[in-house]
Amino acid sequence: MKIVIAKTAGFCMGVRRAVEMVLDTNRRGDRPIYTYGPLIHNPQVLNIFKEKGISTLDDIPERGDGSILVRAHGVPPDAKKKLDQAGFEVIDATCPRVIKVQTIIRKHAEKGYASIIIGDRDHPEVVGLMGYSGGNGHVVNNIDDLKSLPEFEKAILVAQTTQNTNFFDQVVSWVEHGFPHYKIFNTICDSTEKRQKEVKRMAASVDALIVVGGYNSGNTKRLAEIAREAGKPVLHVETEADIETNELTGADCVGITAGASTPNWIIRRVYRKLETMPSKAKVAWRQAAFSAQRALLLTNIYIALGAGALCFACAKLQGARNVIPQILISMLYVQSMHILNHLMGRKADRFNDPERAEFYARNQVLLFILASFSGAAGLFTAYTLGVVPFFILLMMSFFGLSYNLRVIPGELVRKSGMKRLKDIPGSRTVLIALAWGFVTSLFPAFGASSEHFHMGTLAAFIWSFGLVFARTAFFEVLDMQGDRLVGKETIPILIGARRSLQWLKILLLFLAATVFLLSASGVFTSLGYGLAICPILMLLVILANEKEYMLPGIKMEFIMESTIILSGVVTLIWFCLHARC
Ligand code: SF4
Repeated sequence: MKIVIAKTAGFCMGVRRAVEMVLDTNRRGDRPIYTYGPLIHNPQVLNIFKEKGISTLDDIPERGDGSILVRAHGVPPDAKKKLDQAGFEVIDATCPRVIKVQTIIRKHAEKGYASIIIGDRDHPEVVGLMGYSGGNGHVVNNIDDLKSLPEFEKAILVAQTTQNTNFFDQVVSWVEHGFPHYKIFNTICDSTEKRQKEVKRMAASVDALIVVGGYNSGNTKRLAEIAREAGKPVLHVETEADIETNELTGADCVGITAGASTPNWIIRRVYRKLETMPSKAKVAWRQAAFSAQRALLLTNIYIALGAGALCFACAKLQGARNVIPQILISMLYVQSMHILNHLMGRKADRFNDPERAEFYARNQVLLFILASFSGAAGLFTAYTLGVVPFFILLMMSFFGLSYNLRVIPGELVRKSGMKRLKDIPGSRTVLIALAWGFVTSLFPAFGASSEHFHMGTLAAFIWSFGLVFARTAFFEVLDMQGDRLVGKETIPILIGARRSLQWLKILLLFLAATVFLLSASGVFTSLGYGLAICPILMLLVILANEKEYMLPGIKMEFIMESTIILSGVVTLIWFCLHARC
């Protein structure tokens, strides 16, 4: 089944901003935290807020304390005043585009204009807008409503920001014809407009459409309506659990779009569910290959193979020989640490990768045994190389295990507020890359025939570190919204997705050029010429994702991990060619 995701699907600027403001307030430790009314129309996000102790207040109490956030839709000005008078610290998360409409209405109301608002009477945004109209606001939801209005001497016409553009156009032509002296402001947010235009275009090219978003979200319902008008089967779902597998039987191409308050981790979960659904277009071997990819990724066997491949490549870059134990150590260590970290980090996987979270919950005992066995086998193999490699691996294992534990001493906790290594902003990406770098590039220098560290060892470490850093940070860019919700502070969250991707592209070009030049200068063996392909392919995966040729799912994860496995394949070819010489 071909799956396309609308470019405009998911959080709009205003909703993203409001969610981030709530999470920032929560992170600062301000207590208690409330939102005045549901912050956004998405029950899944609201449940997460509840779990974090952020409650929704529907009525303003006489006395209150703590912080209260005004939602993206805005509220009437007297509600804001009352919240303030009750004693709350009011944090205004009203979307700047809604503020613009409020300002238009307020300024004209002060000059005696009546305000005609095209929208849903009970929608919170419209209720808020009415508060700025100075008692002379009129909501119209259809042409009949409009016809029933008296003629005003002075009036403005505005729209709820998520209004259907077709209906707005109809109203405008009616008003221009009958009341040319009314002032018209097209206040439909361009995010809504683009979303609606895209769903129309998409409906023409797919067999069925899935619209993801809260059942009570106005803009999501409107997207579903527009798609239905195009005559295509439409499923409006809140999460992937609402998709009935038989509902899409026979569809070879399915489009996914989502409302402005749908987080991207829910869209990804819907995508993943579709990706795993059988389709008539999928031949048996493809289905089997897909299931195998999924199993290799879930069990971390593929990642372990990647570590082995990278160790082989780093060893041969340095000219080391007889490195089978070192390859085994890399595989066993990475397998063990990844399983343990997933077992301890299921909270974030619940959003970003629920299938993995379920797999780990179902098989936790078996996986724990596998991780312990891999860890012990890795240590034993390191011991066969000598006491020093054994102790280094032992320390790395302790370090890896302590990542999720409270190991930061009390004094530092008081000063920084961080209890665990994982609380250090950006630590995850750096520590994973460091661990891979050590185990894949430094271990080959122990006990192998090269027998010592040299410039090539350091250069191989940088190369391996860089490659794993880029892979890990790229996955973190994809997981940003889910990570943010569970309070993780990854590098993309700290510096933003766009900047992270820019830096990753530069890093990958640097790695490709470095491995090439170091081979040319003799620091690395000639293998470096071939290995330049790995960062280049990683870069192509990132670009393909940016251009939406490749969407985040099992296939893309598999391809990304394959760029690391490729280092082993290239090394094997190089090795066979040189062995023959
Ligand atoms: S749809 Fe537009 S106006 Fe409404 S919250 Fe989003 S960005 Fe703001």
